[in-house]
Amino acid sequence: MALEDIKEQDHIVKYLKSILRKDRIPPMLLLSGRKGTGRFLAATMFAKALNCVNSTDDCCDKCKSCVAIEHRAHPNMIVIGRDADVVKIEYIRDMINASFVPLNNGYRVNIIDNSDKSTPEAFSCMLKYLEEPPERTVNILIAEMVELLPETIKSRAVELKFRSLSAAFIKETAKKKGLSDEDAEIVSKMANGSMEKIKLFSSKDFLKKRKIFIEYLLNFLLDEVIVSKLLEEWKNFSGSNDSISNAKEFFDIFATLLQDILFVSVLHDTEHITNVDALGFIADKFAFVDRSKLHKMYGVVLEKNQALLTNAIQQYILLDGLFKIKEVIK
Ligand SMILES: [Zn+2]
Repeated sequence: MALEDIKEQDHIVKYLKSILRKDRIPPMLLLSGRKGTGRFLAATMFAKALNCVNSTDDCCDKCKSCVAIEHRAHPNMIVIGRDADVVKIEYIRDMINASFVPLNNGYRVNIIDNSDKSTPEAFSCMLKYLEEPPERTVNILIAEMVELLPETIKSRAVELKFRSLSAAFIKETAKKKGLSDEDAEIVSKMANGSMEKIKLFSSKDFLKKRKIFIEYLLNFLLDEVIVSKLLEEWKNFSGSNDSISNAKEFFDIFATLLQDILFVSVLHDTEHITNVDALGFIADKFAFVDRSKLHKMYGVVLEKNQALLTNAIQQYILLDGLFKIKEVIK
């Protein structure tokens, strides 16, 4: 893969290729945007291009250097913080201590993934290093919550903002994985602009379990399923040992379903629904819905999602939300 192959981020590819052509490489780049939009991929392809022996504004993907970077086996590229919940000062120290003159007249590329999850100590250690960056070194910070980075670091970086991916692009990708048009459509809507969970979403098993769970939710709304049974099904679907964890995910699915019912039954719009596979069920069983009840239920979902931000007792919030919704249904 090369920079050229990165999809849906043309503005970024264009910029990176232009600085490569001019050989004016800033000492620090900040790749911001949501997870699953190609930030790490772009950082790696850029590292390849900076060290490729055959190409000036991209990488050939064939030379020893390109192959080594592709397999994360090139000493000129250091990656820290990948998949980390916290970026500790030790990681930064290890990165700095590995400092050397880049091989083959190339560039040393330090990629700090999840940089927004750095501890204050890690940030200050990073800052000292970034204040006097070594020659032919590029530091690439990857972050989702840019506002968490200290201004002193942010102001030194050239920020490249990654866009959310289009539903059409995600749908095409899902179809290439062998999904039917309908399943790919559902996946593209669930993915919500990011490839982060695309592998999970695209598995046939996941989609099958999800469909069953959605039917339980709809039956719950018809007052045909009790709270405890619904929670049991949520456990089956989410695969969690803790019967009612992931409350946010639960409420998110619930919210899409309420929106779908509103679209189909009140607005008679079948084009913009998320749960395409539940369309028949909704049209059939929810032809006459009480609009004010829908709004009340939606209100409960919003309120509980908000409560999840400040309260750690997820289980109770989920339970309380479901009993409140049940009251609205009755
Ligand atoms: Zn190459």
